[in-house]
Amino acid sequence: MPWMELVAAGLVPIAGAGGIIFYGSSVPTSQVFGPSLVRGPAGKKRIALTFDDGPAQPYTLQILDILRESGARATFFACGKNVERFPDIVRRVHAEGHSIGNHTFTHPFLYFKQPAFVAGEIDRTQAAIERATGERPRVFRPPYGVRWFGLFGALRERGLRCVQWSNASFDWRDPMTPEEIARAALRRIEDGAVILLHDGREPRPQEQVDASTTVRALPAIIEGVKKAGFGFATVDEFVG
Ligand SMILES: [Zn+2]
Repeated sequence: MPWMELVAAGLVPIAGAGGIIFYGSSVPTSQVFGPSLVRGPAGKKRIALTFDDGPAQPYTLQILDILRESGARATFFACGKNVERFPDIVRRVHAEGHSIGNHTFTHPFLYFKQPAFVAGEIDRTQAAIERATGERPRVFRPPYGVRWFGLFGALRERGLRCVQWSNASFDWRDPMTPEEIARAALRRIEDGAVILLHDGREPRPQEQVDASTTVRALPAIIEGVKKAGFGFATVDEFVG
């Protein structure tokens, strides 16, 4: 889906009346539908690693091992359905000091969805994560970065902040080498950057999930961040 990639890279020139809705709903940095955190506050020399669509076996566990070895904390935007499948993995994510965000239950495109549907996706995921960890997330990332009417009202009512990203790794593209993923993630890295990565896939049969290239890219990303003089924060810390 090349247009999504261009949108994710913030490279789509948009004009016209339909364009403003397209821009507002689809460009990760847009603030048209409501406030979204794209980058954390500057001045503390920290960036946030974020992993979407998990948890997944064994990739989330491998990522946790790498994070532990390097002393980095991260944020996992989990899909509720995958949380129900792997509650033990979510418990470990939580126990090791990482932050867990809501990434909807089934990972739908939110375009043209009714507010009640959107709210249901959010609530089922809040409940699944709370059952696994005892805590409800405070941050939300919409699937594909797509925001739609009704979403921000639902987030406000639940005390959730919408979090997008400033640096896309393009690790969802196929084929990408670990080197290409690391290079994309670290391109124009700045204080407060939020890096988008994936530890799983939207809910689907386990045999169709492969985040191994992201796992192999992660050590180089962590090293690159440290070399650039940054430490690591969770997006909860960015949100404050
Ligand atoms: Zn996703």
